[in-house]
Amino acid sequence: MKLNFPEAAKRYLRFRDSIFSAGTGTVSLMVSEPSASSESELEIQARWFGGEFGREFIGTEGERIEIVQFGHWNRAAGPDFTEAAVRIDGELKAGPIELDLDVRDWESHGHGSNPAFEETVLHVFTDGPSLNRFYTRTNAHRRVAQVQLPQYAWSQGPPDFLPEAFPGRCVAPLSRMTDAEVDSLLLSAAQYRLQQKAERLRVMSSSTSPQQALFQGLAEALGFRSNKTPMAILSQRCPIGELIEMAPLDREARLFGAAGFLDREQFDKAANHEARRYLRQLWDRWWKMRDDVDPLRSRSIPWCFSGNRPLNHPQRRVGALAALVDSWDEISSLWEQNVNNLENEVNNSLKNLHHPFWELNYTLRATPSPKRLRLLGQDRLRDVLGNVVFPGAIGLAGDEDRLWAEFLELGKVDSNHKLRRASLRLFGPDEKRRKLFTSYYHQQQGLLQIYHDFCLEDVSDCEHCPFPEQLVQWQRKSMSEGALPAATETMLLQ
Ligand code: SF4
Repeated sequence: MKLNFPEAAKRYLRFRDSIFSAGTGTVSLMVSEPSASSESELEIQARWFGGEFGREFIGTEGERIEIVQFGHWNRAAGPDFTEAAVRIDGELKAGPIELDLDVRDWESHGHGSNPAFEETVLHVFTDGPSLNRFYTRTNAHRRVAQVQLPQYAWSQGPPDFLPEAFPGRCVAPLSRMTDAEVDSLLLSAAQYRLQQKAERLRVMSSSTSPQQALFQGLAEALGFRSNKTPMAILSQRCPIGELIEMAPLDREARLFGAAGFLDREQFDKAANHEARRYLRQLWDRWWKMRDDVDPLRSRSIPWCFSGNRPLNHPQRRVGALAALVDSWDEISSLWEQNVNNLENEVNNSLKNLHHPFWELNYTLRATPSPKRLRLLGQDRLRDVLGNVVFPGAIGLAGDEDRLWAEFLELGKVDSNHKLRRASLRLFGPDEKRRKLFTSYYHQQQGLLQIYHDFCLEDVSDCEHCPFPEQLVQWQRKSMSEGALPAATETMLLQ
């Protein structure tokens, strides 16, 4: 059953919402967006600066607050974002914006007595005391408008904290559903997930620009899971609008310098003469621009170097990003309405990205590879398609039904530990079904969405998870639509 866009997503949303409004008494299971407190301040700042929270807010005093310009991400001491402009109840104010995890950080970090924060026009935060109000005041006792950020779903996959997968309580009812019924559930969950990603990119596009949103999305996809946020930050510190105005080697120097990969230590420990020659080229350009863009050490990008395959080392990912910017004219058209076969277009544009150094090297220090290595492998390309190109095209270009039909044809990515864990929890030892329901990209995405919505919210070892019982509703609805073979509730719950 291939419901049109966004009918399947709505159906999954109704299914999910009916579970949590059904009074199941499941106090230990709550649907909530990921808590802001589980994210670092830098991650939330990156989301803010990328425009993910939008531009319009209601302040803590009920003011209407519009972000006219996000300003610059400060790389030195002082407020987080400088030269910003906000409209508060119609009055335009220019000045810095400070973003903290907790409203009380304003005082505990000493901003209230620091003259550098005197001109701050907005204090953004995610958390605060539940009983007492905390006001933001400058050294001169001027009150600063406050915005408490709503919590948004990151929508790019579940956090990774389950220590081990084990078959869940839903294995039995799922095993009694027909293949078509399970497929329709996965398809609807996948469409819901795609719609969430599309909405995120649409909001980012209207907050920054479609080009910058596409650039950040691609950078995040290149960062894979462990360096997604660092790559997002890098794309914000090196906006595409500035990069494309620079000569190719200058922009590569800008990317590597802003990433923090151009220092004496890298040079001294470089693998060989070729790596030193490459670094020298970049350094000769970087030192001329570094005063304008080099961040304070305390604001350097927190790369994750461990646990990555050698091909995914952050330095190599930044090299791929530089190569991608070299082809920006072609790539930037991917979200346009008249692109017919997106998978072909992406393969043609990105499959043969070329970089003379990075297609032979894993890092600046490692022994080079004897053979050429593709900058973007098949799985990365699929994730670029699934996480960025299709959601962006759906969110911005329209023509949803045609794009959705194309999305359904995307092949699977290699199983990773999250997918393995999700399929084991839902399908247990039934290897045939595990394979059957992970053979397309949309099925894998649907599985991840259910895992995110139910497994990761459950703290009762499945006991209070309402998903198994509510599968009956899914099946009953499917039967009433006449799209699926009949089955009885009793049989399902046996
Ligand atoms: S938590 Fe719910 S959805 Fe996840 S395995 Fe257990 S019963 Fe299934």
